[in-house]
Amino acid sequence: MDHKPLIAITGASSGIGEAVARAFSAAGHPLLLMARRLDRLEALALPRTVLRKVDVRDRASLAAAVRDAEADYGPVDLMFANAGIARLGDIATQPPEEWDEMIDINTKGVMNSVHAVLTGMVARRQGTLVMMSSIAGRKVYPDHTVYCGTKFFVHAVSESLRAYLAPHNVRVVVVSPGIVDTEVLDHVNDSRTLENYKSNKAAIGGGISADIVAGLILDAYALPQRAIVQEIVITPTQQTY
Ligand code: NDP
Repeated sequence: MDHKPLIAITGASSGIGEAVARAFSAAGHPLLLMARRLDRLEALALPRTVLRKVDVRDRASLAAAVRDAEADYGPVDLMFANAGIARLGDIATQPPEEWDEMIDINTKGVMNSVHAVLTGMVARRQGTLVMMSSIAGRKVYPDHTVYCGTKFFVHAVSESLRAYLAPHNVRVVVVSPGIVDTEVLDHVNDSRTLENYKSNKAAIGGGISADIVAGLILDAYALPQRAIVQEIVITPTQQTY
């Protein structure tokens, strides 16, 4: 009989979120998978999953999805606040609506994900928040202006939450990858920015697989609750900036 706890993932329909879903499912966990593309969640065909069409900007629907999944599988023991969008572009010409989108999804969406599970984890003195930042949450890059702002936000909130939650025995892990091969570039509308990004990526031999990031998150989670990997910084070996 398997009693592994429930894992919740936002942005599970592609890329790193999908890889983390597959890794935790293979390790025997039930899952709550959330994204806007429900068909992509269904196509994963993973066992013991609750699938919910959730836009992380919608705080109420995210909380409702957590309540539904917890009714089936017990408390969420790990929330992977992963959903994010990278609309990279020249800050002077970029439509401000693209800033709004990144700020709402990458910062408020992360807070909504945390909010849905925080009080339960504190009450249980048990749980792990995995916060998706980026190497762009530690350094700035050309045409990443607002994206970097959102990821620096995730770093600051993670540090603060870690200090707040430490006495409650709840862990906060921040994940800061470099270039990972996913669908992330599909959202870049500025063609010059996209070309520069692609040539920089080619110059370092390409990105790494999302499975590598997923494996690190699984290993960090598997440590005893009293031990924490505070931060995971993972990049292609040739990515030195
Ligand atoms: P993908 O574009 O493949 O995945 C993004 C995921 O986020 C999708 O599942 C998408 O699902 C979901 N998502 C986007 N907006 C929303 C929303 N409003 N509500 C719910 N879900 C949403 O890219 P990655 O896997 O690369 O991105 C995952 C995270 O990793 C992001 O936060 C990104 O910033 C970060 N990251 C990526 C790096 C990379 O090089 N790939 C490097 C560093 C960090 P759907 O569209 O179905 O809603």
